[in-house]
Amino acid sequence: MTFTVAIVGRPNVGKSTLFNRLVGRRVAIVHDMPGVTRDRREGDATLLGMDFRVIDTAGFEDATGDSIEARMRRQTDQAVAESDVVLMLIDARAGVTPLDRHFGDLLRRCKTPVILVANKCEGKAGAPGLYESYALGLGEPVPLSAEHNEGMAELFDALMPYA
Ligand code: GDP
Ligand code: MG
Repeated sequence: MTFTVAIVGRPNVGKSTLFNRLVGRRVAIVHDMPGVTRDRREGDATLLGMDFRVIDTAGFEDATGDSIEARMRRQTDQAVAESDVVLMLIDARAGVTPLDRHFGDLLRRCKTPVILVANKCEGKAGAPGLYESYALGLGEPVPLSAEHNEGMAELFDALMPYA
């Protein structure tokens, strides 16, 4: 039996970059423009020999005509329903934003376990955002750089209990 991991977070935090990193191919479209990913959203991931299903929740961003809150709620509900553990990503370089807090509020009410991941932590620019993210109330953040492949051992350790 394998387990399923959903990647959740506001647009542009690096969800698709992490998804591609875990799946080992450029499956999801990575873009500077928020909300462009439309194609595939599920794949077989390998992280340092640990295998699991991974869901890039960006596909839930494309409902038109809905408020951002409604879309975020649907994204979160879907992810929680389909996964054993949720990775909530923030952009540590941008710091914690109101949208991050909104996601945090939704996820803290769910029974599904959540691992907070502070992405874009390469170099020093992510440090303030990393420390700020403790205030989301989702436990200790895992510092990561999906783009530079840093922090994968820490992510492995955080996911290990669910394997
Ligand atoms: P998504 O909207 O959450 O799926 O975010 P994307 O994966 O499309 O990435 C949004 C932008 O952030 C792209 O320009 C990525 O290249 C960039 N990005 C992703 N991961 C990192 C990272 O670890 N460090 C930095 N500096 N940029 C990143
Ligand atoms: Mg995306």
